[in-house]
Amino acid sequence: MDLDLSFKAIERIIWDDPGRRGVHHLTLPGDLARAATSLLAARRVTIVTGFYIIDEQTYETDGPPGARAIGHALELLEIPVEFLVDSFGAVILRKGGLQPVGEAHRDSSRPLDCTHLIAVERLGRAADGRYYSMRGRDISSVTEPLDQLFIDAAHQEIVTIGIGDGGNEIGMGKVSDMVMSHIPHGGTISSTVATDFLITAGTSNWGAWGLVAALSLLAGRNLLPNVEEATNHLSNLIDADCCDGVTGRRELSVDGLAIESYLAPLPKLHELIDPFLQS
Ligand code: ZN
Ligand code: ZN
Repeated sequence: MDLDLSFKAIERIIWDDPGRRGVHHLTLPGDLARAATSLLAARRVTIVTGFYIIDEQTYETDGPPGARAIGHALELLEIPVEFLVDSFGAVILRKGGLQPVGEAHRDSSRPLDCTHLIAVERLGRAADGRYYSMRGRDISSVTEPLDQLFIDAAHQEIVTIGIGDGGNEIGMGKVSDMVMSHIPHGGTISSTVATDFLITAGTSNWGAWGLVAALSLLAGRNLLPNVEEATNHLSNLIDADCCDGVTGRRELSVDGLAIESYLAPLPKLHELIDPFLQS
């Protein structure tokens, strides 16, 4: 299989939509490969994540594991990485396995010291400047404006990559028309924050795995977590008191997907890239 076909095969795997969110309306074919190509040349990367579930008063299990998978892949490539989360989220997400974590509210006059800025399941502001859950609830009170970094990056020659699954995340500003016309509450929740590249997936952690799979093909080595590692990433978050963002339960699931369904794309991605790397 040639490289282009392999990228397309990765897209098909991560575009699976078990939650029936209408993910196929929000996909941009080719952005995955373009994002990975750009990321391979990164000198320093900042990854923003963390989605607060207001009723459960903790973070959801979609986002941080994806951020961690990308961070680990970049570490293997010897590209320095820092995670950035809400100031009140640093303790819990650090406990959940993200290292090193920087906090928001840092000196905003200091430009970000990175070449690439990535968001994994992180809210982007809607047209009214507020932040909304998928169900249309205003959660601005628990969401610091980390999306401002992505807005400012456009003037700083920083490459931006958004990974999302619902339409309200950083990056989805690139397809906001589609969010408004195809996604429930789209008119309210649609993110206005666009990124250079947008990776849409059935769940955002899958989008992150897809990016790592594409990066693996380009780097010539398998940078993906295995099933056991991905399971551990999830259980670290549950140990840190995070919850499923759909069910609100503190158990091994993501976006309402039980662990078996959640992990299902990972062996497929390994199967896809391994023969390629051996040839
Ligand atoms: Zn989402
Ligand atoms: Zn999600």
